[in-house]
Amino acid sequence: MKIDILTLFPEMFEGFKNESIIKRAIESKKVEINTCNFRDFAKNKHKKVDDTPYGGGQGMVLMCQPVFDAVEHLKKENSKVILLTPQGKTYNQEKAYELSKEEHLILICGHYEGFDERIRSICDEEISIGDYVLTGGEIPSMVITDSVVRLLPKVIDDASHLNDSFNNNLLDYPTYTKPRNYKGMKVPDVLLSGDHAKINKWRLDKQLKITMEKRPDLLKGKISLEKDGIKKSKNKIYLDDIKDIKVTEILPKKKKTGKYKIEKTTKAIAVTVFKPNQIKGYKLKGKNNNKGLAKILIVKNEFISKIAYKNVLKKVDVLARRFNAALNSDEDDDDTSRVLGEAEMLRQMIISMYANYLGAKKLDEIINNINRLVNEFVKNKTMKNSLLPKENTKSTMRM
Ligand code: SAM
Repeated sequence: MKIDILTLFPEMFEGFKNESIIKRAIESKKVEINTCNFRDFAKNKHKKVDDTPYGGGQGMVLMCQPVFDAVEHLKKENSKVILLTPQGKTYNQEKAYELSKEEHLILICGHYEGFDERIRSICDEEISIGDYVLTGGEIPSMVITDSVVRLLPKVIDDASHLNDSFNNNLLDYPTYTKPRNYKGMKVPDVLLSGDHAKINKWRLDKQLKITMEKRPDLLKGKISLEKDGIKKSKNKIYLDDIKDIKVTEILPKKKKTGKYKIEKTTKAIAVTVFKPNQIKGYKLKGKNNNKGLAKILIVKNEFISKIAYKNVLKKVDVLARRFNAALNSDEDDDDTSRVLGEAEMLRQMIISMYANYLGAKKLDEIINNINRLVNEFVKNKTMKNSLLPKENTKSTMRM
């Protein structure tokens, strides 16, 4: 991957490029990071790159010409041009993964009051690193570069970022190092047990618990029933054992607050799944029936389980096909680590998003299936690499 950063302050990147993981990634040619001072492209006598805004107002505005010319100079067929701006889409780990698949990124750092609006026309997308305003795009471009580079193959141990926070919408699990007991605070016994199945389970449980406590928004509504042809409706919600609910709004014009009894009906299909504690204070926009009650539709748990199971089986089937493709591919290392990473992510995703709906027995069955696919894949791949001549190596794995 190549990353070109357009900036008026290239010196700011010296420390960034010359330390730790980024430095090693550059040295081992996993990434090429260049800074380009677009002042060098200014055509005027004093190399001026900014001017006062038309219509008056505070500050200086970056001019089109040096930025346009610098981008034109750097841009190739597969380049993605990104403008750093507080108005852009908020950056997150998912975006970092997406960008890590690109061949060439061009990051444009604004400065001063901002840039001429017409600069947006040469950008493929706009990214903000959060809802606050910095003096320039240099730090945002470092944030993006750092988060993308560590995801490139073999920059860090590929398996290690699979458990990072935000993967599969989970936060990371707690980690400990020596000593076992520090000022009376002990390392949990399970981590000293040497039982890796138990350790993995403990870690996943912790990831779920921590995510629920600190960032429940990451887990919310992750199960998609819509894909199975069920239409989403604002008037239908799923309630499990809730007897009553505080409805803060029923009719668009007439606001009401108070406790409303929930009527259950077995006919309905609900598509939005809430936990009882999430429903508290939720704004419910439902149809008002004659008794002035919010119309709540209930769906049985078994139905949700059935849909969840069907969804998960489909995903495991796709994984089996991915394993087959990787098994028969000649690009050994990259394909192998990618598909093993996918298996791990699927395993975690199923545990984090579907466990509640599947129930222990079905969850076990699915996880065992994934583990079996992984073991078979590793066995077949090892055999293929070490023993068999190339033309006899086509293999197939089934669910
Ligand atoms: N007047 C601009 C506004 O309110 O949108 C802010 C300009 S800011 C002082 C200067 C430059 O810093 C921006 O053009 C942008 O490149 C960069 N910048 C500042 N905050 C940013 C953020 N949260 N995310 C990405 N870039 C940011």
